[in-house]
Amino acid sequence: MRYAVISDVHANLEALEAVIKDIKRRKVKEILFLGDAVGYGPNPNECLKVLSDNCGVLLAGNHDWAAIGLTEIDYFNEYAKAAILWTRKALTEKNRKLLKTFPIIKDMKNENMLLVHSTPKEPEAWHYLFTLWDAEINFHYFDEWLCLIGHSHLPFVIERLPSGEMLTFNKEAALKKNDRYIINCGSTGQPRDRDPKACYALLSEDRMEFVRVEYDREKTQKKMREAGLPLQLIERLSRGT
Ligand code: ZN
Repeated sequence: MRYAVISDVHANLEALEAVIKDIKRRKVKEILFLGDAVGYGPNPNECLKVLSDNCGVLLAGNHDWAAIGLTEIDYFNEYAKAAILWTRKALTEKNRKLLKTFPIIKDMKNENMLLVHSTPKEPEAWHYLFTLWDAEINFHYFDEWLCLIGHSHLPFVIERLPSGEMLTFNKEAALKKNDRYIINCGSTGQPRDRDPKACYALLSEDRMEFVRVEYDREKTQKKMREAGLPLQLIERLSRGT
C-alpha cells in the first residue's frame, strides 16, 4: 500500500496541479481525495476535472455540498458565503451532477482505513476535530486502523496507544500495527498552518509524511481578483492562514 492523500483543494488549480505533479514523481498506488474540491478559489470546474482524472476515491466536503445546495450556508463566514454564491454560478450542470455522486464517507475495508471529510462521529454535521478530546470521542466511532480526515486544513497525526494514551505529530509518523490513528492530510488549496505551500500526505504500511509543494500562488490570486472573490480569501493564501 502506498497512497497519496489530498483534501481541501478549494478550486485552487495551480496548487492542485503542482501537487499532482509531485505525486506522479513518486510510486503511489492511488490518490485519495477527502473533499472540498470547490469553494474559495477561482477554478471549480477545472479542479473537478483534474481530481476526477487522477483520484481513485473522491469524497465531498461541506463546501461541495453547499455549492450544490445540499447543506446550509448560514454558519459560513461572510467570505466563504460569498465564494459559495460565486461557485454556484460558475459550476457547470455536469459538475453539479458529478458532485452529487461523491459520498462524504468511505470505508476502505481492504486497507483497514476509513475516509471522511469531517469526523467519523457525525460526518454530515461537519464538526471539526481540533483537540485530543475530540479525537478521543471519535476513536470510538470507527473500528479501522486508520481514519483519514480533512476539513480543518491543519495537517496532523494523532496516535492512540492500546493504553488510551495519545501522541501527536505534524511532520511525519511511524505507523504501528497495534496503535490506531487519526490523520488529517492538510489542505492543498488553502493551508492554514502558517505554511502557504500546498500540502498533502504520503501513506505507506508503516509510515506517513506530509509533503509541502510550492505553486504559482500569484497566478491563483490574480484569477481570484479578476473573479471578484473577497480580498480576505486572496490574502490568506500568502499567509497560509
Ligand atoms: Zn475546506
